[in-house]
Amino acid sequence: MVTDSYLPGHGNAGYRVRHYDLELDYKPGPARLSGRALITAEADGTLPRFELDFGAFRINRVLVDGKPARYTHGGGKLRVRPAKAVRGAFTVEVRYVGTPRPVRTRHWGDLGWDQLTDGSLVASQPVGAPSWFPCDDRVSAKAPFRIAVTAPSPYTVVANGVLVDGKVGGSTTSWVYASDAPMAPYLATVQIGQYERVELGGDQVAAVPARLLPAFRHDFARQPTMMALFCDLFGDYPFDSYAVVVTDDPLEVPVEAQSLSIFGANHVDGRRGFERLVAHELAHQWFGNSVGLADWRHIWLNEGFATYAEWLWSESSGGPSAATLAEHSRAVIAALPQDIRLSDPGVARMFDDRVYQRGALTLHALRERLGDAAFFELLREWTSRHRHGTATTEDFLALAGHRDLLTPWLESPRLP
Ligand SMILES: [Zn+2]
Repeated sequence: MVTDSYLPGHGNAGYRVRHYDLELDYKPGPARLSGRALITAEADGTLPRFELDFGAFRINRVLVDGKPARYTHGGGKLRVRPAKAVRGAFTVEVRYVGTPRPVRTRHWGDLGWDQLTDGSLVASQPVGAPSWFPCDDRVSAKAPFRIAVTAPSPYTVVANGVLVDGKVGGSTTSWVYASDAPMAPYLATVQIGQYERVELGGDQVAAVPARLLPAFRHDFARQPTMMALFCDLFGDYPFDSYAVVVTDDPLEVPVEAQSLSIFGANHVDGRRGFERLVAHELAHQWFGNSVGLADWRHIWLNEGFATYAEWLWSESSGGPSAATLAEHSRAVIAALPQDIRLSDPGVARMFDDRVYQRGALTLHALRERLGDAAFFELLREWTSRHRHGTATTEDFLALAGHRDLLTPWLESPRLP
């Protein structure tokens, strides 16, 4: 499929990206980003021209296979016309500079690269990626990334994947991250701030403002136990690392990215008041990031599963059982309009809480039908079969069976 059924304006035809190599230089004061994106791609056939999704930067040059190409830029698209039509593998290099501006959206506010009081963050779900690099911005178009960022030395930079290189150059420091597992552009991120590095154990690290360290250490102390539980229930952790960033500013909601999650200062209260969300974001590494979506209309495969993981963590850590939480959730959404089809909620309501709750309830109903052993075996088969790939609701039905039970949950707006 060329474009997403919910976001047809993003994503491009004619090629598939095989690798993104981003070299960025960021100055937080003037909020100035200069970048070089080297994209390796594969043309589907002979391609006399092609497009990338890209926001409003000044473009200094565009090279295709090392040779200057003609281009026009506007309306969120960079239209490239190579000197010679490309066939098979090709590279496109874009050099650009400017102040990153978030992508304005009708349903979800501003998305993408945004300034913090001191530093910056990237929160792109679902269409913010073109606010900082040129890309094929489709949920299903995954590719490995290398992200190199140079920033003033007092700042810590965290990006997806493993820190593979870095260099202190006096006033600036370079950070190089590599993410070998393929990643959808919306999950790519760069976090820049004055953070302290914290080791949580089990290869888990965090970047946290110094003033929040004591509360953070308490609130996230159980994350390694959570990781062990989820590996047990969902299968091996799908990436080489897991990092958490806490911004010094409050955030409306935490943000998931591939192999890392971002929380706001307001999500750290020293009382584990937001541990539910720590579980939710961690679970997205399996459901949403490794097992990605073939199309945004299958969003319940991300949010229903991550919400159910909150209940599983509660049950395992001495909180209310999943059955109790399911009963409560059902009562809440039964009192709301029952006008959402879980398998296709519509673009305006893809992040509606009813999608999250009903998705989790669907999984709970399946668990009750199958019993624990078969249910968790099914989840592990799901994450293993679609590891680092993409999936659809139909894929889940084909694996799970029990359509008599699942179809009403997925297709009928009325609660079963
Ligand atoms: Zn979520």
